[in-house]
Amino acid sequence: MSLAQPAVMATRAMPKDPLAALALLPLIPPPLSAGEVRAVVRAGALNHHDLWTLRGVSAVPLSYPRVMGSDGAGDGVLFYPVLGGCQDPSRCYGCSHDDLSLCERSSLIGESRDGTLAPSVVLPADHVVASPRHLSDIEAACLPSAYLTAYRQLFRAAQTGAGDTILVTGATGGIGVAAIQLGSALGARMIAQIRTRAQPRAVDIQAAGQAGGAEGFADDLADDFAVEKELLALGADRVLTLDDDVKSQVGPVDVVLENVGEATWKSSLRALRPGGTLVVSGATSGANPPADLRRIFWRGLRVIGVSLGSRSDLEHLVSFVEDTRMRPRVAAVYPLEQAREAFTHLMRGRVLGKIVLQMESSADLSVAPITGSP
Ligand SMILES: [Zn+2]
Repeated sequence: MSLAQPAVMATRAMPKDPLAALALLPLIPPPLSAGEVRAVVRAGALNHHDLWTLRGVSAVPLSYPRVMGSDGAGDGVLFYPVLGGCQDPSRCYGCSHDDLSLCERSSLIGESRDGTLAPSVVLPADHVVASPRHLSDIEAACLPSAYLTAYRQLFRAAQTGAGDTILVTGATGGIGVAAIQLGSALGARMIAQIRTRAQPRAVDIQAAGQAGGAEGFADDLADDFAVEKELLALGADRVLTLDDDVKSQVGPVDVVLENVGEATWKSSLRALRPGGTLVVSGATSGANPPADLRRIFWRGLRVIGVSLGSRSDLEHLVSFVEDTRMRPRVAAVYPLEQAREAFTHLMRGRVLGKIVLQMESSADLSVAPITGSP
């Protein structure tokens, strides 16, 4: 138990060159404190907030070195990624209502304590949740952040149901892809909004895919068609761009999942039916759009913020994924030793789905080896 294991560490804050702060270092697994468990990690998924940890940006004070990673799974369990940070939980709304995503001082595994990008992780015992039984550890590792947020958007904030029309802005992002998959599995009509569509618009997607790389097609043209085709395969009913008028294309929508911010806020509000719901979970293009308050009160719109979710949301997500046999989209799998390549892939941007690190089975942990399916 005392042998060192390789861990993906953030060694310091590097605002301009985050990957320079990344290192694979040997780590002696720490002893357990009261109420903690040590769990085997077989797979850990990457998120953009891991890059912010490398840059030194967080809502909570960061200390280095820190084992990175909020998302992980191993041997049939996955980990609830949100931590509370209150000295007196009874005085905090989130801590006292069993929802650490609403804690005044909430943080993530991999920020305020060591994370999942290592062969084992030490966590509060109540952060271990059974994975959906039909998923591999690699697939289950994708669920804790992006899919948890998308679940909370759809089921708790918007209370969507089958037949609803839902516009997803920033559809190629981690939360967007998760929402399209979950909403489609629910039976909702999912409208994916992407930034641009390659020209010419009239070209048949399938033909363009087959013609990718052929004369007359630039690489990015083939990529754009591939993205659109993949979103449709994941469950989107339509793929629109920022230039498309949503209402005239698909009619008024019941719900908008707004992950982009300033660039889409106005068109998102305009797309909603009276009494519709806009759920905000991101502001990658800017955080201060014109509020358009008259439209909000005149049309009776609801605006709700979501960031991650409660442990109970994660359990409900697991049940929903199991019931619908949904599988998270894995974009790429790298061995732990290639963490730098994996993070470089994440930074490059054009990733549809999750990038996952896979750990070697850890000989220094006294756990039963993984065996084949019975
Ligand atoms: Zn709290």
